[in-house]
Amino acid sequence: MSSVHAEPPPPVVTEPGGNNYATGSALGKGGFAICHRAERYNGSKPTGHMVALKIVRTKMEPAKLAQKFVTELQIHSKLSHPNIVAFYRAFSFQTSTYVVLELCSNGSLADMLKKRKYLTLPEIRRFIIQICGAVKYLHYRHIVHRDLKTGNLFLDDNMNVKVGDFGLAALLVTEREMEVKRRTTMCGTPNYLAPEILEKGKGHDEKVDLWAIGVIAYTLAVGKAPFHASTKEEIYKKLKSGTYTWPELSATTNQSADLRNLVASLLVPEDLRPVPDQIVSQNFFKIAYVPASIPCSAREKAPTWP
Ligand code: ADP
Repeated sequence: MSSVHAEPPPPVVTEPGGNNYATGSALGKGGFAICHRAERYNGSKPTGHMVALKIVRTKMEPAKLAQKFVTELQIHSKLSHPNIVAFYRAFSFQTSTYVVLELCSNGSLADMLKKRKYLTLPEIRRFIIQICGAVKYLHYRHIVHRDLKTGNLFLDDNMNVKVGDFGLAALLVTEREMEVKRRTTMCGTPNYLAPEILEKGKGHDEKVDLWAIGVIAYTLAVGKAPFHASTKEEIYKKLKSGTYTWPELSATTNQSADLRNLVASLLVPEDLRPVPDQIVSQNFFKIAYVPASIPCSAREKAPTWP
């Protein structure tokens, strides 16, 4: 893993032939980038438009990480969906590359879970519906995210989910041949890995994202991933056997038979997994309360629902 430069960014970042960005507080640090809040300026005039400025050192090592970044730019820059972090532009300035992204000021679902431990069923319904919308959009375009997890699901000002971090995404269909390519690279976070990725010589396709939605739904309800363990090896063992358990209902009161059925429908061999439209038509989402919005206070405290 390359070390992310820790020194603060320049106070003003200039896009060649374009806008200026006045940098503000840090939003977070990833494997190869650091993110800062910034305000877009039209020349010397503030626009009031706040963005997330992702800063990547131009001379990135090792080469593999540089590739991750190129893939991210190529795929992410072509996407436009209400539940995908908007990509505005990318440019080089001094010794860094800057990516201007939609600001997700309420952190990620992972941050929210850290504070809350687990979420209420109405919140899970709304979040999963939004994630399914984004995944449907990606899969329709033959793009597989491959790293869907609570830490890559960001929250905007209005607590809408925005799928981000396209560093491991892949375009499965070449426009010329229209031939589906099954990817054979090992990627993703162990807790969210679909079992077919562990099978040697077997490729995997967009169905890994559907598995990840099952893992996310379980994690939002329980606070831990279903195949949770302290070592990678143990996680792999659990994944291969495909067995996971739900905690006692007394430990967490926010499970329901319909939620369990939803998760069970997704954590199955790849060919049996429902696609996003089939996911959101399951009983968990029917005759049940789906909030029209989630208050920002939900980052800290469970909302009370009618
Ligand atoms: P990496 O690709 O190096 O892992 P990330 O894309 O995960 O970097 O970004 C690093 C951190 O910056 C994230 O964990 C998050 O805290 C923050 N971040 C990234 N994108 C945004 C955004 N659009 N809005 C707000 N914060 C963001």
